[in-house]
Amino acid sequence: MPFHTTLYIKHNKMNYNLHDLEPLPQAFHYNGMLLVAGPCSAESHAQVATTAQQLAAMGVGVFRAGLWKPRTHPGGFEGMGTIALPWLQQVKSETGMLIATEVANRQHVLHALQAGVDVMWIGARTTANPFAVQEIADVLHGNRQVSVIVKNPVSPDIELWLGALQRISHAGIRRLAAVHRGFVNAEEQVYRNTPMWRIPMELKRRCPTLPILVDPSHITGDRDMVPTLAQQALDMGFDGLMLEVHQCPDKALSDKQQQITPVQLEEMLKHLVIRSKNSDESQLTVLRQLIDECDDELLQVLARRMDVVRKIGDLKRKTNIQVVQPNRFTDILNRRTQQAPALQLDSDFVKHLLQLVHEEAVRQQL
Ligand code: PEP
Ligand code: MN
Repeated sequence: MPFHTTLYIKHNKMNYNLHDLEPLPQAFHYNGMLLVAGPCSAESHAQVATTAQQLAAMGVGVFRAGLWKPRTHPGGFEGMGTIALPWLQQVKSETGMLIATEVANRQHVLHALQAGVDVMWIGARTTANPFAVQEIADVLHGNRQVSVIVKNPVSPDIELWLGALQRISHAGIRRLAAVHRGFVNAEEQVYRNTPMWRIPMELKRRCPTLPILVDPSHITGDRDMVPTLAQQALDMGFDGLMLEVHQCPDKALSDKQQQITPVQLEEMLKHLVIRSKNSDESQLTVLRQLIDECDDELLQVLARRMDVVRKIGDLKRKTNIQVVQPNRFTDILNRRTQQAPALQLDSDFVKHLLQLVHEEAVRQQL
């Protein structure tokens, strides 16, 4: 499974830290990570009850099930709505798990509050809409009990994601987390939603105290890829997972391809490895020093390259030649991407890097 490379993001120096976050309730903790699991949608009383029993038995502490499903096209399964609230209440009273559902407007929040829903998540389509997020923040104003989880917006816009988190935080909600569920990308070939890891990583950099969960179900859109992506997320230091689990995924009324069974979840949880945040410091320090030296060299080489670029720019201007020479650039791309594998470099990575360097070279020459 390819790992999407991290290349380019505007680094903003402002301090975005969200104020006074409190730790999420203990129920979120599972073997050194945070975990939320359950079906994409609540479909029937029996489905909710059976799934919840099995998840509780394996130690899952937060049960998710969507009641109001935002569907791209009309006519699909739009969720059971308020009919399913007592099913979730029963899960809470019988298993002791916290219950979680998606809210997208004031009415959803009021129903959920009345039913004692512990965790409310804001879905990707709602995070993209500041009016809706503000409406939710206003209803929840000052609530210290409910945990709110903000999924990233469908578009790769970190400011929109952060803005939604800020609206919730400014309303006095202290139990707050983000969920990375990937981004819509027409060019994506492998995943349902491109991970673009650089975006949640930048969120972590800007808000170090904010827990970030990863949702391998919505990122991959494919149950076979869920375990690998989950492990990648943990390896990168994200705080936990939100996973879709269904008794019989093939019969699910929404997101059938990406849901795993409770048995598969148990198997997967058994194999997940939680890496320590600070492993052997002395060895790491030595290797990091090597990295720093490489980065020094990299910058010096880049500076030399740009110096030559500017000289070429002067020459082009004097001799009245256009700045962009597509054939020359194609030649560079071909030659260097062919060279990449022998150097154990990924050809796509080299291509992206050269495109970025070329873009800057053109900018300098202009
Ligand atoms: C969901 O969690 O089932 C859901 C609808 O997610 P998203 O908003 O990430 O698409
Ligand atoms: Mn879903």
